Amino acid sequence: MEDVRDHYLAWLRDAHAMEQQALTMMRSMLSRLKDYPVLCARMEQHVTETERQAGALEKLLEGRDSGTSVVKDTLGKATALGQAMSGMFADDEVVKSTMASYTFEQMEVAAYKILISTATVLEDTTALAVFEQILVEEQDMADWLFDHMDQTTRIFLARDEAGLPARR
Ligand code: MG
Ligand code: FE
Repeated sequence: MEDVRDHYLAWLRDAHAMEQQALTMMRSMLSRLKDYPVLCARMEQHVTETERQAGALEKLLEGRDSGTSVVKDTLGKATALGQAMSGMFADDEVVKSTMASYTFEQMEVAAYKILISTATVLEDTTALAVFEQILVEEQDMADWLFDHMDQTTRIFLARDEAGLPARR
């Protein structure tokens, strides 16, 4: 079971890094997308959820990983996919930001699904409850972005048509 445990801890650290990255990207989006109050309000809610997620993962890591500076090590460490999407997040156009956010949420869904499988194998019931709660939050955020993609796109196009700053 030692190899399973190694994978588990590595994926747990990756998930923590992923949440740190999510916070950076969402905060940056929030500072730019002031003309999309509905999107911003939902994103602010998810920032709060994400802060809680990151805290919960830190607690899990502290109890499970013998490494001393685990949490510190994951700070600023971007996932490969997150890195690839950072250009889209940096773009001040809402359509690209929404696409990147949706993709990121789906990556998070996959990451927690995998952590749930692994925690089940290791019978880590405490962590399992945490991952299941987070998975619901990620899926809800992905669904919300998907359900509002039409609205977001139409607002962007209408603003562009009206000669309002398009790249917002
Ligand atoms: Mg998250
Ligand atoms: Fe998320």
